[in-house]
Amino acid sequence: MLYSVTHRRPCIFGFTIQLLLHTMPHTLFTPGPTPIPDRVLKVLSQPIIHHRSEEAKSIVRVIRPQLRRVVDTTQEVIILSSSGTGAVEAAMASLGRVGQKVLVLNNGKFARRWVDMAARFGMHAIDVSIPWSEPATVDHLLPALSEHPDCAMVWMVHSETSTGTASDIRALSAAVREHSNALVCVDAISSLCALELHMDEWDIDVVTSGSQKGFMLPPGLAFVCLSERAWKVSDHANVPSYYFDLKKARIAAEENTTPWTPAISLICGLQVSLEMILNEGMPALWKRHADLALDLRTRLRAMGLSLYSKAPSNSVTAVQLPAHRPSLVKDLLITHGIRVAGGQDHLKAEIFRIGHLGDYHAEDIEFLCASIAELL
Ligand SMILES: *Cc1c(COP(=O)(O)O)cnc(C)c1O
Repeated sequence: MLYSVTHRRPCIFGFTIQLLLHTMPHTLFTPGPTPIPDRVLKVLSQPIIHHRSEEAKSIVRVIRPQLRRVVDTTQEVIILSSSGTGAVEAAMASLGRVGQKVLVLNNGKFARRWVDMAARFGMHAIDVSIPWSEPATVDHLLPALSEHPDCAMVWMVHSETSTGTASDIRALSAAVREHSNALVCVDAISSLCALELHMDEWDIDVVTSGSQKGFMLPPGLAFVCLSERAWKVSDHANVPSYYFDLKKARIAAEENTTPWTPAISLICGLQVSLEMILNEGMPALWKRHADLALDLRTRLRAMGLSLYSKAPSNSVTAVQLPAHRPSLVKDLLITHGIRVAGGQDHLKAEIFRIGHLGDYHAEDIEFLCASIAELL
């Protein structure tokens, strides 16, 4: 019997029967969903409250300034009931005009989703294709901006989860600002609470995130925050959307509520996870993620494994699958009850991905690496 230190669920060796996989306890090392701390689980199991009650409003009243501290902004952070993709959809629809150019720094599967989304909304998506193991850089951005000086938004992914790659959002934001009037829009879905980000100081116009990543909650809440500049642009948007009307959401937020029935149980959980996050403190949180990621990378390299990304993220690590152990992802699950993520699309047989975003600690990395070493 072996215990994952954080999650304290027993993992039983030797079960090789596929059927049993469904009933076995797993230890998640995936970049979303991420493990949920016991304190949060406890709140999630409480009887439901009514979303229009004073109790619900008082929770939202407490959460609003806390979310602003996480994003480091004076702006309202809008809470949506959807997965992270909904936050990006809300932002694109609330800011976009049909036919308008939207530039996407496309260095992975999630960035590519935003290319598809802009096109679906009838906007002119400019796909700046970047090799998948590379971060998006100012060198990728500037030629595209000079070719399309009239683009209205530039979308970038802070931590590209499909490749485990972090991009320098601060530098990209400054470059967009210097060379165009486009809005700086950031997919911070798998980076918020793990990688340093300062919305106001870095002059970012849109920050998006989701509950099942650094917020240590189940999937179901998304967050979107617009700058003053972006709110002004939203007055002229004409991409149709009803559910994701951010103006309506902002008016409701100012009254500590939401326009529609929210995932209220998750909002109750959010109150606890935000308290945990802010008690630790943002700089300490970023440092813990940096330390864990560095420790993991060092241990993996010591085992003879190679990293996939040229700019590894501190929230997810992509590793080349060793040629002599192509079934590593499945084997970790069967023999150790550990779930890591495989590669996506053309990287399916090439890499595996380890999430260490949220409630992870030194002993978790140790446990994971010992398990990998055993299988190798
Ligand atoms: C998880 C994730 C998303 C959103 O995915 P959802 O399934 O909609 O929550 C978007 N971008 C990145 C970088 C992600 O990691």
